[in-house]
Amino acid sequence: MAAIPLVGGNTISAEQMGFTLIHEHLRTESDGVRFQWPFLYDDTRQFERAVDEVSRALSSGVQTICDPTVLGLGRDAHFMERVAEATGAQIVAATGIYTYRDLPHFFDNRSIDFMADLFVHDITVGIQGTATKAGFIKFATDEPGITPGVEKVIRAAARAHLRTECPIVTHSHAQNGSGLEQIALLEEEGVDLSRVVIGHVGDTDDIPYLTRVLERGVFIGLDRYGLDIYLPTGRRNQAVATLIEKGYAGQLLLSQDACATIDWFEPEQIKEMVPDWSMSFIPTTVLPALKQLGVSDEEIRTMTVGNPRRLFER
Ligand SMILES: [Zn+2]
Repeated sequence: MAAIPLVGGNTISAEQMGFTLIHEHLRTESDGVRFQWPFLYDDTRQFERAVDEVSRALSSGVQTICDPTVLGLGRDAHFMERVAEATGAQIVAATGIYTYRDLPHFFDNRSIDFMADLFVHDITVGIQGTATKAGFIKFATDEPGITPGVEKVIRAAARAHLRTECPIVTHSHAQNGSGLEQIALLEEEGVDLSRVVIGHVGDTDDIPYLTRVLERGVFIGLDRYGLDIYLPTGRRNQAVATLIEKGYAGQLLLSQDACATIDWFEPEQIKEMVPDWSMSFIPTTVLPALKQLGVSDEEIRTMTVGNPRRLFER
């Protein structure tokens, strides 16, 4: 089995991943703003917050964190390496592009395969000149659906996947059913859907929609726990319990999409809007609540350990 690259340059096998959070961010920033107005950013505070979030997740039983921060979210492999070193966490970095609509003009006159080459570079050579290689591929579809820019990224992600066998983890918009559109495009490009996570599907508890996505053989991300502004925790839990009853435990991945810092908001605003949003909310609060709903220890192990391992196994 091929090795999974960790932030910092080490590798592990899929068995060594253990309890894995499939979608969390050490730091999320708007690309370009830091470069122009660096005085806006407090690096020390960002570092401390990331170390604190990751450390609390580790002490709650988490072993591996997958961080799908890419172009569009201010990916910084140097920052990730500092956090990995300070915490000892197994962190897996990503390649890809995060946009809901347009691409940087750089890509206007460059092909899908050129973009795929960049993703493959991050996977095979490394990210930003560091020892860190990307272990998975990320793209996004939100309210505007599949725009021409987004379609280009999806096709490039698919082609990089075919060349490297790295899994794909997406951001989708549950309310417009764009997870199914993502699947259709990936399928057209020949992607093995069992190596794909359609992310943020858990922002809805519309069981018929969730079932339609699951029937395609993908994993789904119930991966925004704590973001009650999209769907409260109780309803997320009920949806998980229902899907397990229907026999889908083997395709569910739990995470929080927690950002230790995100420059879209002031930290105080976030604390007020979504007080439960953190990388340790699932192990400390969600898993005990799921048990109360009748979810077994074995099913929890399937979702937190077994499914991430199968996603990354080649
Ligand atoms: Zn995210």
